[in-house]
Amino acid sequence: MTNPILPTDFQPTPSSEPTTDKSTNVSNPPSIATDATSNAAIIAQMRTLIDALKTHNNAYYVLDNPILEDSEYDQLRLSLIELEEEYPDLVQSDSPINQVGDMPLSAFTQVTHDTPMLSLGNVFEYDDLRDFMRRVNDRLSVAQQSPEYEMELKLDGLAVSLKYEYGKFVQAVTRGDGQTGEDITQNAKTIRNLPLWLADAADIALLEVRGEVVMPKAGFERLNRLALENDDKVFANPRNAAAGSLRQLDPSIAASRPLAFYAYSVNQGLPETIETQSAALAWLGDIGFSVSAVRVIQNPREAQEYYESVIDKRAQLPFEIDGTVIKVNSLALQQQLSFLSREPRWATAYKFPAETVMTRLQAIDWQVGRTGQITPVGKLEPVKVGGVTVSNVTLHNFGEIQRLDVRAGDMVSVHRAGDVIPKVTRVWHGQRPADSVPVMLPSTCPVCDSPVVLPDDEALARCTGGLFCPAQQQEALIHFVSRRAMDIDGLGERWLIGFFNHGLVKTVADIYQLHNHQEELITLEKLGEKSVQNIISAIEASKQTTLARFIYALGIRGVGETTAQNLAQQFGDLDTLMSASIEKLLLTPDVGAITAELVYKFFRAPHNIEVITALREAGVHWDKVEQKVSTGQPLDGQTWVITGALHSMARDEAKAKLQALGAKVSGSISAKTTALLAGEKAGSKMAKAEKLGVKVVGEEEFLALVGEE
Ligand code: NAD
Repeated sequence: MTNPILPTDFQPTPSSEPTTDKSTNVSNPPSIATDATSNAAIIAQMRTLIDALKTHNNAYYVLDNPILEDSEYDQLRLSLIELEEEYPDLVQSDSPINQVGDMPLSAFTQVTHDTPMLSLGNVFEYDDLRDFMRRVNDRLSVAQQSPEYEMELKLDGLAVSLKYEYGKFVQAVTRGDGQTGEDITQNAKTIRNLPLWLADAADIALLEVRGEVVMPKAGFERLNRLALENDDKVFANPRNAAAGSLRQLDPSIAASRPLAFYAYSVNQGLPETIETQSAALAWLGDIGFSVSAVRVIQNPREAQEYYESVIDKRAQLPFEIDGTVIKVNSLALQQQLSFLSREPRWATAYKFPAETVMTRLQAIDWQVGRTGQITPVGKLEPVKVGGVTVSNVTLHNFGEIQRLDVRAGDMVSVHRAGDVIPKVTRVWHGQRPADSVPVMLPSTCPVCDSPVVLPDDEALARCTGGLFCPAQQQEALIHFVSRRAMDIDGLGERWLIGFFNHGLVKTVADIYQLHNHQEELITLEKLGEKSVQNIISAIEASKQTTLARFIYALGIRGVGETTAQNLAQQFGDLDTLMSASIEKLLLTPDVGAITAELVYKFFRAPHNIEVITALREAGVHWDKVEQKVSTGQPLDGQTWVITGALHSMARDEAKAKLQALGAKVSGSISAKTTALLAGEKAGSKMAKAEKLGVKVVGEEEFLALVGEE
């Protein structure tokens, strides 16, 4: 299976190694190009990489719409760097390796920078950071060795140069290809924290400040949410959103976008008294610019401390950062160290591990949760993301699969930030294998083969196996013995799971057969005879229970303690409850359409009937339920409120029907209200009902209740 965006030799390798691992990049290049044929092969490899990088540079820097995650792009770039280092004679004249950004967009006036706007080199590991500091030392005289450094946040946005003449903002230009950028002055004027007038720099003929335009995270999320609602373009990340917004031809669009500018250097016009980068940033802050957190450090260990402290607070920052930047603090030393073609020698980015990487989704497995929910789990080609190897990712539910339109075999982006559970953030549909097939919800449970249902109004599909499904059995067992259910004191969760794992207990009915396995309990679980006796007695004692407890203990979804009590009251005995129709069930206080259906289905599943029969045969019993004497009205003692417009009848008519069934109908909602009958356009009452946890009944449910379906 190939990935059309990556050249054939650079397909992602199924490996648990980080994607930045150099060994995964080049498929065994010959070590020496001995003849013309091998030279041609190397050149062909270089050309393929160059073409791919050019395509991606254009998509990223010019169109603000990358077609590859950064980590994959970096991998391609590294592959070309390695080839060029190994075969310096074969380096192609148009290699983009030393290039900064890409050509500016011709739609804007192009401006040549007074001095080039460079990129930054980068390191990912502590050892590489030390190497960088060593290289700096190598270029300094003995007296200058181990200089002071300054560290800043590496903001993930778009580099911009701002010019001020005698304090007045006159021009903003993007970095472009480093030599020439786009004049975006009109758009920059709309950035709220960008000062248009610097009173404290009014005597400086020309001040050039460089910095980063970013889109704060909250604004980015809002923008993408709106874009989704309006079927507009959704941006891949805040960096692309900032760049795309700043490079709008219509400044009113840029004005509507939440952008911010953070200054990080003074390229011209810095007062001569300022001698360090940290002092320059302090000055920028004083005259009115926003600047990011700065720390002066003396050695690699302190650099590491700063880097780690930034990782810790990264999630709380209002904007995205992709690392830290370390700079020699002395401006004179910066001058002396100068720069390479693409980056300064006196600074480098100390980047964070990629939080979003691409990998292949090999398969989608369905897992059964302890309460029967069926969740899809994506099996990934293992990949390192956010510093951790990830091979599984939750896809939440079937709806999420449909929303993402994801299939087994797709290339996907996986995001993991901090301790957050990894998730699929993007599916690269353009790279979908031709033979892929849409994902279907399994019709039967992968564990017990019972039918799977996906109720209309629910996101999660469920196994209907109930007590029969092994995946649900453990949970069912724990619930069954719990204090409010059968209250089998002494049969703690630990023993229960132990018995389950030894196959002594599978269904809740097996608990009542444990007295036949006393020897095994003693040997397998190393229980003392006394403990076993206690457990057996507790089990025996639990046989005398109440119908309400028994119903609750069955663990029917949607049936909590109160509902169980109501069902016991309503039906008086188990057999009547088990054979009740949905309509009859709906007459029970507190039972709505969903619960009624769940109860109905539970008592129709043959496995559940088997378990219930076994429990009764084992001697589980209860006293006859004393049904409260009522006027015989099903809604006796209930208080209802009606809101919104009903289709089938006037509100007065609905009121009369409710009253005929014994309910009181009130005009306002309180915690004592039993139910709110909500028609169309239900307003504040609906909100209040939700807030108070009052049951909301729709018109259809109401009609079923009053027998007018
Ligand atoms: P860069 O973003 O890695 O680093 C240089 C830039 O950092 C500077 O130009 C400046 O804008 C910025 N910066 C932020 N904070 C700074 C600070 N405090 N001091 C100094 N500079 C600061 O380099 P780049 O050349 O702009 O872009 C390379 C990045 O773009 C890589 O991460 C690469 O993966 C990505 N990229 C991705 C694709 C793709 O297809 N996905 C294509 C091209 C580039």
